[in-house]
Amino acid sequence: MNQREKVVEIRDLKKAFGDLEVLKGVDLDLFKEENLVVLGKSGSGKSVLIKIMVGLLTQDSGSMKVFGQEVSRLKKRDLNALRLKIGFSFQNSALYDSMTVRENMEFPLVRNEKNLTRAEISRRIEELLDSVGLPQTINQMPSELSGGQKKRIGVARTLILNPEIMLYDEPTAGLDPITCGDINNLILEVRERYKTSSIVITHDLTCAKQTGDRMAVLLDGQFDALGTFEEVFPNAEDDRIKSFYDYNF
Ligand code: ADP
Ligand code: MG
Repeated sequence: MNQREKVVEIRDLKKAFGDLEVLKGVDLDLFKEENLVVLGKSGSGKSVLIKIMVGLLTQDSGSMKVFGQEVSRLKKRDLNALRLKIGFSFQNSALYDSMTVRENMEFPLVRNEKNLTRAEISRRIEELLDSVGLPQTINQMPSELSGGQKKRIGVARTLILNPEIMLYDEPTAGLDPITCGDINNLILEVRERYKTSSIVITHDLTCAKQTGDRMAVLLDGQFDALGTFEEVFPNAEDDRIKSFYDYNF
């Protein structure tokens, strides 16, 4: 079998804030078109890791390469170009409340792809709303949408710049089980359709099991357990991993 292409490669990455050591030597790979689930309790450093990935924070030591480029050494222009290839889907979906769905989706396009015609912009918005199953919401305000719909629109907006990597931060938090299932399916459909490589941060083991090819559990500043859901969870010996499983099933 061919060596699979790595889109992210992290080695011995460390990050502290004053005395608080958050990441204590993280090693992690994300392979092309893989869905990698990152689990870890609140405050374990999941968001810090992702912020380093897009250059919003810089590590103290160690290496983080995205598409083979060491992020901390990128010049501003190259960092901006990299960020456009990485889509963030925020926990609160972060739609602008005073804009319609169409305007929310237009915003990143108009800012970053200045050469598109009106017709091209409309076509792209309509295609993405179709692919998240919400074409009818195009002229609605975020306040008129349910929590699950807002999440879907958030994902559609994140996809509008054709990112190669998708970062989902707690995509199912606060949703009922059926809507969670819909979002899990959406994450799988997005990969299928747009060939994205993804990191899914979640506390929800059902989401982890349904969406993830591999699990990575962040424990005390390092990834201790890596493998498929079946490899990591049902027979975990480490109490900290077991407690995740017992809590969810
Ligand atoms: P989570 O795993 O819940 O996403 P975070 O990565 O957000 O956790 O945070 C990990 C730890 O780092 C927390 O204790 C948080 O308070 C701390 N932290 C995160 N960002 C900063 C910052 N910019 N300055 C100081 N401390 C921070
Ligand atoms: Mg977080």
